[in-house]
Amino acid sequence: MQVNMLQSVADPEMIETLPGLTALIRDELAPQVVDIDVNGTYPGAFLHRLGAIGGFGALVSPQSGGTGRGLKNALQVIEDVSKQCVSTGFVVWAQHACACYLQNSSNPALRSDILPLIASGVALGGTGQSNAMKSRAAIEENRLKAMRVEGGYVVNGTLPWVSNIGLDHYFHVGADVAGETGLLVVLVKGDSPGLTLNQNAHFIAMEGTNTFACQFKEVFVADDRVVVHPHEFARFRARTKPAFVLMQMGMGLGLVDACVSMMKRSNKTHAHVNCYLDDQVGDIEAALLAARAASYRLADKIDSEAGVDCERESIALRLLGSELSLKASNSAMLHLGAKGYLVNNAAQRRVREAYFVAIVTPAIKHLRKELHDIDSGCQVCSA
Ligand SMILES: Cc1cc2nc3c(=O)[nH]c(=O)nc-3n(C[C@H](O)[C@H](O)[C@H](O)COP(=O)(O)OP(=O)(O)OC[C@H]3O[C@@H](n4cnc5c(N)ncnc54)[C@H](O)[C@@H]3O)c2cc1C
Repeated sequence: MQVNMLQSVADPEMIETLPGLTALIRDELAPQVVDIDVNGTYPGAFLHRLGAIGGFGALVSPQSGGTGRGLKNALQVIEDVSKQCVSTGFVVWAQHACACYLQNSSNPALRSDILPLIASGVALGGTGQSNAMKSRAAIEENRLKAMRVEGGYVVNGTLPWVSNIGLDHYFHVGADVAGETGLLVVLVKGDSPGLTLNQNAHFIAMEGTNTFACQFKEVFVADDRVVVHPHEFARFRARTKPAFVLMQMGMGLGLVDACVSMMKRSNKTHAHVNCYLDDQVGDIEAALLAARAASYRLADKIDSEAGVDCERESIALRLLGSELSLKASNSAMLHLGAKGYLVNNAAQRRVREAYFVAIVTPAIKHLRKELHDIDSGCQVCSA
């Protein structure tokens, strides 16, 4: 198996994102990226170790077991992991997205009982929010319906794909409640009575993400597992959506960084012919550095200026990240040529990963719709 730690396209003075992260990625993740890609191995042990060094604590306050290092730190952890493997970067994002929702919940039971487990990586989890997010943007119907009952809600419906989950994992989902305009968001555990996890689909690039279809049949969710009640949703959404979307830039930045490194290596021997390709490494690298700087700036702004509306900016940057990922991976593949076609070569894996960055919610088409809706003053976007 070929193990190739990539040289990062970074400011040489940049300090390590998290003490121990570089060594953990080099020793625990890099050796298994081909296995993750080809055999769909779920990197559970790596995720637990990442949690143990604080890799999931950035958005969580120290009172709930986090590091409180902030959104930029979360983004950088996802970016560092994605430089090796976007499939793993995606599940790291999912865990952060789960932590972000729990940290911003007004429910103290979630913050004291479950959040410390997620922040430390003792428990793993994800987010089943794609469908709800698309329904709020008037792209598709919400597939989950909830009914208020004594002491909680009963949830019914099916989500076709939720990643980083399993019987002992947690994830949050958004459900419509009859008569309410806001969304109900609840946290469920994979072994909840009435919930069935089915793994009957197989994926390219993302088979190692533990992705399941989730069928809810009369699943009772007690009040102490409610992340937000419908009447709280609008304010909750404003607090969480820019971070939820911007963190996905970590996948794109890490992937593009890896593509730039591949192109540079190829140019050591093939620059005389690579120079005829459309997208040259200098242009991709300049775009990467600009996108990275803009992402870090926006992360700091979201953290420091609570209440400032950063939604449009985060959507626009996320779109740029998808477009750049497609361009960079396409060019890296063309630079590598036949070598890039080998099963264990990262170039073809990067092409498949880039398409995931571009299609996972919010996908390119979704982002463009939301930008159109915001710019034209249309009010449908409330995901
Ligand atoms: C590997 C992988 C991991 C994912 N992980 C998550 C996750 O962790 N959390 C999460 O919320 N979402 C997850 N998704 C869903 C993803 O974010 C998108 O929402 C989803 O791919 C549909 O978006 P779309 O733009 O393709 O849909 P559109 O093009 O807008 O519509 C396609 C429609 O067809 C439906 N559809 C297509 N194929 C199937 C199928 N086989 N079974 C059922 N319905 C189908 C889609 O749900 C959708 O309604 C994952 C998707 C993939 C492929």
